[in-house]
Amino acid sequence: KKLPLDPSTEPGVRQVRGACFSRVQPTPLKNPKFAAVSGPALALLGLDADEVLKDPLGPEYLSGSKVMSGSEPAAHCYCGHQFGQFAGQLGDGAACYLGEVKNPTGRWEIQVKGAGLTPYSRQADGRKVLRSSIREFLCSEAVFALGVPTTRAGSVVTSDSRVMRDINYDGHPRMERCSVVLRIAPSFIRFGSFEIFKRADEFTGRQGPSYGHDEIRTQMLDYVIETFYPEIHQNHSDRIERNTAFFREVTLRTARLVAQWQCVGFCHGVLNTDNMSILGLTLDYGPFGFMDRFDPDFICNASDTSGRYSYQAQPAICRWNLARLAEALVPDLPPDQAEQVLDEYLPLYNGFYLSNMRKKLGLLRMEEPEDEMLITELMQTMHNTGADFTNTFRSLSQISCTTQQEGEDESQAIKQAAELLLQQCASLEELKAANRPTMDPRELAMLLSMAQSNPALFQMISDRKTVARQLERLSRLKELMDTTAEQLRAKQTEDWSCWIRKYRQRLARECESGIDVTDLQKERVHVMNNNNPYVVLRNYIAQNAIEAAENGDFSEVGLLLALL
Ligand code: AMP
Ligand code: MG
Ligand code: MG
Repeated sequence: KKLPLDPSTEPGVRQVRGACFSRVQPTPLKNPKFAAVSGPALALLGLDADEVLKDPLGPEYLSGSKVMSGSEPAAHCYCGHQFGQFAGQLGDGAACYLGEVKNPTGRWEIQVKGAGLTPYSRQADGRKVLRSSIREFLCSEAVFALGVPTTRAGSVVTSDSRVMRDINYDGHPRMERCSVVLRIAPSFIRFGSFEIFKRADEFTGRQGPSYGHDEIRTQMLDYVIETFYPEIHQNHSDRIERNTAFFREVTLRTARLVAQWQCVGFCHGVLNTDNMSILGLTLDYGPFGFMDRFDPDFICNASDTSGRYSYQAQPAICRWNLARLAEALVPDLPPDQAEQVLDEYLPLYNGFYLSNMRKKLGLLRMEEPEDEMLITELMQTMHNTGADFTNTFRSLSQISCTTQQEGEDESQAIKQAAELLLQQCASLEELKAANRPTMDPRELAMLLSMAQSNPALFQMISDRKTVARQLERLSRLKELMDTTAEQLRAKQTEDWSCWIRKYRQRLARECESGIDVTDLQKERVHVMNNNNPYVVLRNYIAQNAIEAAENGDFSEVGLLLALL
């Protein structure tokens, strides 16, 4: 299907060799108009949201339709590994850098996303539509509000310019309004920004644009370290030591970031190396999703058929991406040093995850080695019972740590707590739906028969894990088919009671150190509520706001932003 704009025949779209960026001009929008603004994000640039909203030129400037004098817009050239394969030149295909603002809040790069063709647009049109822009806008600000490092979004501008999109990939494309998000971050440099310096012969088939420009890579590394990691720059006179310290810090930030994602049930969806921020920020909001019912195999990206970027894969994928970054930094970063740092990743990640989870469970006074098992069992219970991730954690603060008190009946207390958690669990029909295999049954049958008759071929053409996951679902589904709603409730009650008993025992040990139990309970609830969001950007909630906005009513987006 041909897009109305055909970038493949546009002279500007090309392979760019020997450069990290190209000068471009954003393409103006027809009648740009604000769909939403974020006061706190605009304040980073020293802008007052009310004044911006009143200014008739506000949407013009914040969408790149007009460019301030002094600004030299540019598109950044980067490469990346997409879904495990080196993909050659990618770059800002829809985004455009406008410049930087330095002020007391920091040093901020400004970008317009959806601003039209750049040399890096490849087969696409360089535009974004209201759907994707509102999702990026709301989620950037929501993730920030959750205390998770992220790029920010200052505004969404909609317009009367239109592009064709095949939203359901069903051959019924529709015209949608072009829109632009104003993105803000100290830097948008990615792991993939360093991959452009690899020599062509290091890749099979595809090549980086720069044929091994070692000096430029070193310059970019110096720039990143001096500008964004000044302490590392100051503390190391030896270059190799400095670079190793830098890679160690990027590793630490990445491990901390992904631990935070796991703890709020956030799935990025496209963890390619070009979407990994060199500053450890959440970067590029596309098909992201917050989990509703807990499922370790949750996949939010419909085109991720193998589940490479599923929820539970994220920590390991981020380590894989760090290894690709390390490769791109050779010889500034010797492979031996990189290997040592990468060995620290998993323990670092586990440490961050555990300490976050302890806060989510309100385990404040001590750390026990058994906590890890308690958390694993909580996840298993959530999965088995189809419990809502966000709401379950939120409910846990209502389980009291008082125990063995006068008149308190242990089994009664457990029963009450279980009742509370059962409210977050799936019904029989919902669980069945959640476990329905997503793969076409004929395809699954074919793969299974191949696995038996020709294991070697099976290994070659298929992702075994995908089939295993499908079979797991199928066996769960089969079990559910033989279960009544009453039996399911009874099982769910039993599962939760079992876990709650252990949780209460653990909480009781918190109280043993002679602390005032009422004080401890107060502090627990406070810490838990600060670490367990009451609301996250669920897909259907975003969708409601998007549909209203597509009909010209932007109030839902504004309300949602305030709530998040
Ligand atoms: P993503 O999967 O969002 O990280 O995008 C992968 C690549 O496609 C990046 O180089 C993007 O700049 C480019 N890209 C994404 N959307 C568009 C678009 N609408 N027009 C041109 N390029 C795009
Ligand atoms: Mg991207
Ligand atoms: Mg994207």
